[in-house]
Amino acid sequence: MSNVKVRFAPSPTGYMHIGNTRTAVFNWLLALKLGGSFMLRIDDTDVLRSKPEYEAAIRDILTWLGISWSEEARQSARLDRYKEVVEKLKAEGRIYACYETAEELEVMRKQLMTKGLPPIYDRRALKLTAKEIAAYEAEGRKPHYRFKLIPGIIEWDDMVRGKCRYDAANLADPVIIREDGSFLYHLPSVIDDADFGITHIIRGEDHVTNTASQIQMFEALGAKIPQFAHLPLLTGSEGKLSKRLGSLGVRELRAEGMEAMAISSFLAKLGTSEAIEPYYDWSSLAATLDLNKLGRSQPRFDEEELKLFNTRYVHTLPYEKVKDRIDADSSFWNAVRGNLNIVEDVVEWENICHKKLKPIVEDKELTSLAAELLPAEPWDENTFSDWSEAVKNQSGKKGKSLFHPLRLALTAQENGPELKKLLPLIGRERAFKRLNGQEA
Ligand code: GLU
Repeated sequence: MSNVKVRFAPSPTGYMHIGNTRTAVFNWLLALKLGGSFMLRIDDTDVLRSKPEYEAAIRDILTWLGISWSEEARQSARLDRYKEVVEKLKAEGRIYACYETAEELEVMRKQLMTKGLPPIYDRRALKLTAKEIAAYEAEGRKPHYRFKLIPGIIEWDDMVRGKCRYDAANLADPVIIREDGSFLYHLPSVIDDADFGITHIIRGEDHVTNTASQIQMFEALGAKIPQFAHLPLLTGSEGKLSKRLGSLGVRELRAEGMEAMAISSFLAKLGTSEAIEPYYDWSSLAATLDLNKLGRSQPRFDEEELKLFNTRYVHTLPYEKVKDRIDADSSFWNAVRGNLNIVEDVVEWENICHKKLKPIVEDKELTSLAAELLPAEPWDENTFSDWSEAVKNQSGKKGKSLFHPLRLALTAQENGPELKKLLPLIGRERAFKRLNGQEA
């Protein structure tokens, strides 16, 4: 195993959606491709919004997708470690206390904006005298804390975006601890990434500016800076960054019959220069991973496209991949899969072949004759052509007027898998009765 280590760091404040699923998929693919390990980190510093049921649901979806982790951590269990780092960084002057209220900060922000200046905090807290601080504290104000950025250019070579460059002068010192003492995500994330030896961070491009300030945090900790890959965010079919996408739950997609590897194949190729093709296992999908093939523009995610792709995926889904979930043998599966929209639809065809049904008799004369002409078993895929040829010759019917009544009598369906495949699955006894208009 290489020293490559990635992490997926969901906040358990909601269910897995298509956006963070895509992040998990890319991390997992990179770990597989580079022979590295995958860590699950629960970012639960937001105690009010984090819920055990969301966390359980996240684990459940990851497991269903076939993503597994060899290590896990929970931020709420590491607060002592974060506090220890904060004390060190305070002593080094990299973390400082601020006393402005949210309203005061808002006024300052507006003032800068009206002057056409970027809304960057002016570090006035650094100039407070001991007396002023004492006065604030006497008023009952509690400090929040910021991380002090050092002037200079921050650069990294992003695995998706290429060279990225920020001037620290254009960035505000990020707030890292709230007034109530709770941590914002930024610093704990860096401490974890450093402590756990994360080598590659793949996440959404909404984190790009965080990365610039987090690089300075890694440096302040004396830690090695990981490689970054920022994925362009998905947009909804409406064209704009959609709220609905954020909430398009993978649980719902699963309940609608989407296959785990179909979702992963789809998400891995969406927005790349490669065609979206079905991959039936992770290793073959991982072998194709190439972050350079991801475009910079935001790919459009369309649920209907995913559904169509899922159907395509099911049509060639190998029996081995479904055998534990269905009550059918491989010849049955191979006969019907090309007519299924979702795997669960196989039950319909099992019922049609193996359970009683009321046939639809469209041409009694033809189907009764066809019943008489049924050969003796055993049957195979060639049976149908010999038999239907005999029916054709004796009845003088051909084409639709031959096949349509046969299909309706045998299956009570207008459409379906090829009759040559269905006939042996239905068997002689049932076929004979159905062709004679009897329920069987
Ligand atoms: N909990 C953060 C999020 O879900 C993690 C971001 C990161 O990967 O660093 O956005």
